[in-house]
Amino acid sequence: MSNNSPGFATLAVHAGAQPDPSTGARTTPIYQTTAYVFEDADHAAALFGLKQFGNIYTRIMNPTQGVLEERVAALEGGTAALAVASGHAAQMLVFHTLMQSGDNFVAARKLYGGSINQFGHAFSNFGWQVRWADTDEPESFAAQIDDRTRAIFIESLANPAGKFVDIAAIAEVARRHGLPLIVDNTMASPYLVRPLEHGADIVVHSATKFLGGHGNSMGGIIVDGGTFDWSASGKFTTLSQPRAEYGGVILHEAFGNMAFAIACRVLGLRDLGPAIAPMNAFLIITGIETLPLRMQRHCDNAFKVANWLKNHEKVAWVSYAGLPDDPNHALQQRYAPKGAGAVFTFGVKGGYAAGKALVEGLKLFSHLANIGDTRSLVIHPASTTHAQLSPEQQIAAGAGPDVVRLSVGIEDPEDIIADLEQALAKA
Ligand SMILES: *Cc1c(COP(=O)(O)O)cnc(C)c1O
Repeated sequence: MSNNSPGFATLAVHAGAQPDPSTGARTTPIYQTTAYVFEDADHAAALFGLKQFGNIYTRIMNPTQGVLEERVAALEGGTAALAVASGHAAQMLVFHTLMQSGDNFVAARKLYGGSINQFGHAFSNFGWQVRWADTDEPESFAAQIDDRTRAIFIESLANPAGKFVDIAAIAEVARRHGLPLIVDNTMASPYLVRPLEHGADIVVHSATKFLGGHGNSMGGIIVDGGTFDWSASGKFTTLSQPRAEYGGVILHEAFGNMAFAIACRVLGLRDLGPAIAPMNAFLIITGIETLPLRMQRHCDNAFKVANWLKNHEKVAWVSYAGLPDDPNHALQQRYAPKGAGAVFTFGVKGGYAAGKALVEGLKLFSHLANIGDTRSLVIHPASTTHAQLSPEQQIAAGAGPDVVRLSVGIEDPEDIIADLEQALAKA
């Protein structure tokens, strides 16, 4: 902790929280209520008219949710945040605030599989078009932009293989075209990467993963960087035009550098409804208190495991940005010097059958479709998440027949390695 502003670990424990004023409870209470009594009729009218901020109904805000929002905004260095039911809900509300039917956005081709589905299928029903580009070539984003483009979307540490992305280079393209850059920071967490410091305007999270960190609750977060000028072009009418239902208020004018987070709440969350359960907000707050400790341990363990696998006779290759000879190592050093994250892929000699046998032989590792749990997790994409793709498509997606993906947990590294050793011996 410095003399001026609290450090990251202090914010992870304290930001947004204080002892409960009515009971003295030190831990943030779970406000398990749907609604809140108004002081009087004028108070109720002021809340409904956005003249005053306060609790009305838990679909729109809740005090436990509020602590989670302040904490993640502090950790990311944003002006405000909104917590919602899942990472996918966060993405839906972000685009609902930016897009009209007929608009498009440009997204990185290498993304979490669920996001590829959401963008390509569900969003097309809303009339929102996704265009794909390659993060290794920032100008490929520029090539997709036209006058109906409203945003650029990337992951800071990209799925499935754990590749760091040159955020600043893509932020440059966004700035040149007057578009906001949205960064999904789920895999890195703000402990490793703070995208707003590299030119991002909005950060989204699946809090289900490393923020919560224990594999027990779904949640999503939108962080407003407060950096984007929503009124500079006529493109973002939700923020720059009067809202009839709120007495003609212009959100950007009224709420300045928090306007985006407020629009996601008072329009998107109000109308689409994916509110986070107060219990889940509480569990995610509790998880965040140990984020710096867990994340460092995840990285240290993953590095040891990757290094060990690299020298194993049954392992064909290892793709982990933390290894000094990895092609992604320079970007990792630049964006995430504390560590390269927990998630990476490697190839087993013997292809499909060997990959499947390895997953079946592991005992400490859980075979499941998740990342960012305290526990070590494994999946063989070719026989599960990517089974419906052709062999060519699987290889293009980084999910070829021999690929195994690990999310290395915080157990003793010797035990993680011993489990891999016994399973590789059988594979
Ligand atoms: C899991 C995940 C999501 C989706 O989040 P949910 O909480 O499962 O809805 C989005 N992006 C990334 C990188 C993820 O890992």
